[in-house]
Amino acid sequence: MHKPRYRPLLAGWRLLLIALLAIPTGALAQVLDVTRMPNAALSLTTAVELLEDPQRRLSLADVQSPVNAARFIGEMPPTAALALGFTRSAYWLRITLGNSSNAPLERMLVVDNPRISYVETYLPNAHGHYRSVRTGCDTPFDTRIYPNRNFVFPLSLPAQSKQVIYLRLESTVGLLVPLQLWTPKAFHDYERDDYVAQAWYFGMASAMILFNLMLFIALRERIYLFYITFVTCTACTLAIKNGMIPPWFGNGLNLHSNVAYYSGASLTVSSLLLFMRHMLETHRLMPRMDRLLQGLVVLFLLSPLAFALALPAVARMTILLYLSCAALILVVVLMCAYKRQRSAYFFLGAFVLLIFGGAMTLLRALGIVPTNAFTVDGVQLGSTMEMLLLAFALADRLNVMRKEKARVQVELLHAQQQLVDSLKISERELEQRVVQRTDELQVLNSKLEALSLTDSLTGIANRRHFDMLLQQEWQRAKRLGQPLALGMLDVDHFKDYNDHYGHLAGDTCLREVAQALAASLSRSSDVVARFGGEEFVFISPMSDAQDALHVAQRVVQAVADLALPHASSPIGYVTVSVGVVAVRPGPASTAEDMLRRADAALYQAKNNGRNRAELAAE
Ligand code: GH3
Ligand code: MG
Ligand code: MG
Repeated sequence: MHKPRYRPLLAGWRLLLIALLAIPTGALAQVLDVTRMPNAALSLTTAVELLEDPQRRLSLADVQSPVNAARFIGEMPPTAALALGFTRSAYWLRITLGNSSNAPLERMLVVDNPRISYVETYLPNAHGHYRSVRTGCDTPFDTRIYPNRNFVFPLSLPAQSKQVIYLRLESTVGLLVPLQLWTPKAFHDYERDDYVAQAWYFGMASAMILFNLMLFIALRERIYLFYITFVTCTACTLAIKNGMIPPWFGNGLNLHSNVAYYSGASLTVSSLLLFMRHMLETHRLMPRMDRLLQGLVVLFLLSPLAFALALPAVARMTILLYLSCAALILVVVLMCAYKRQRSAYFFLGAFVLLIFGGAMTLLRALGIVPTNAFTVDGVQLGSTMEMLLLAFALADRLNVMRKEKARVQVELLHAQQQLVDSLKISERELEQRVVQRTDELQVLNSKLEALSLTDSLTGIANRRHFDMLLQQEWQRAKRLGQPLALGMLDVDHFKDYNDHYGHLAGDTCLREVAQALAASLSRSSDVVARFGGEEFVFISPMSDAQDALHVAQRVVQAVADLALPHASSPIGYVTVSVGVVAVRPGPASTAEDMLRRADAALYQAKNNGRNRAELAAE
């Protein structure tokens, strides 16, 4: 039911407007000659005479009565449609059509708005009797005498005739009446193009729905479901709005009705809000606003109940709510855009296009902008653009996510490379340290080896070293067929020396003897070593018996020349005895034999009175 407090205000406003724009014509109806017609719609707005019936009680006979007939007002402003606003009044329209030709004429009377609840037409026959056709979006589809998404009434005008046609209009929502007259051919051409345009839109919407459904199946992201819901709701609501729901659809339910239309619009707004919330991440960017949006979603989801119960009472408020919601969406989108939310730019573009389309349709209805393809289907065009831009926003979102993933991958790769680099560096450092340690170890090893080959007391080669050198020299001499000399030396009466001078002095004495021995064998190939205790050996390569004896005597002399006092020796100073041997190593002889022979020669030297050298017997 209409809210009573709006009534006087509304009625007053409307009457004033009509009084300003129109002159009461009384019974002097002007005749519109429809013999010559344009090849397009002829707007009947200026030819219409109007009578308001606030109580909705008048019948055809009532409005034909002289009192009411005189109350019709005419001379409407030349707009594309009569905009009568949100009214519960019934409106009677009177149009007088004339055929000045000599042939009967067929014309189509079109109420180009599928959203009028009740459209009742009174068409006169040849005898002046009226036949009524009652249809409208709130009546079943089969009440239409011509099946079209709008309300179409074929007219027959006999030759040289005049007809007065009455229309009674009533709506539960706003009443906008674009009344047109067409020739049948022009109308059929228009009808075909009109359905092609409608099919184009719904085909596109279906494609978007199916494509995004596939994306949802592939990507499993909830946001695609919100988008699909939004596009589906938009397409269904536009189908209702434009009278495009097929008559067989809905199983008896009148899906053309204004209740269905308003319910569809509410579901569309709530699905848009849901999609927007997810797309713009409002719960993160503006939590309080997000809660308000959630509240609106619930309100719009529940609103069909109110429409079913009392649409006329809430229709105007609902429109105000839609407008406030549009303003709120704009604010949210602008705030998100301000916060550099990338998707908000697309949303803004999409929303502006939709509003622009809506505004175009409204301005056309008010006659401010001309009627053309862009303005007639402004909402639909705006909705198409919006749909596409939002799909593009989804694609962009995917692209942003892909780029982010690639960036993270590059960063990860970079970090990995850095790790590899630092590992390589530490590996190199480790290698360097190992090399350094190995060098140090080698130095240490060679030092150790030198130590292991050196006699600690005298500093000359020790017994181990001597054994090795003797084998080497033996093999070399054997290979080259050269002679090799070996001398064995023992300090005379050394036990007594120790006893007399002490063990430490004995050590000093041994060092001096070793130095004298080393000094006596000056060739680089010569070898001197401590054999053990106070016994020394020397090897003189390439020395025959004479050379060997000569060297041995030089050693004896060198020690004697030291003149180290030896009180316990019969000679009075430290002397040595040397046994020497020279051999050419052959296959039968060994180095050990050579040693044994040198030892024997030493024994001989001791026996022969010491302080002398003896050559081993052949
Ligand atoms: P001979 O003339 O017959 O050789 O008489 P000798 O007293 O020298 O007898 P022998 O060669 O058997 O004596 C070896 C002595 O050398 C025994 C030991 O006290 C001494 N001696 C052996 N090695 C060392 C040493 O490293 N330092 C000192 N101070 N004395 C040593
Ligand atoms: Mg000895
Ligand atoms: Mg001795």
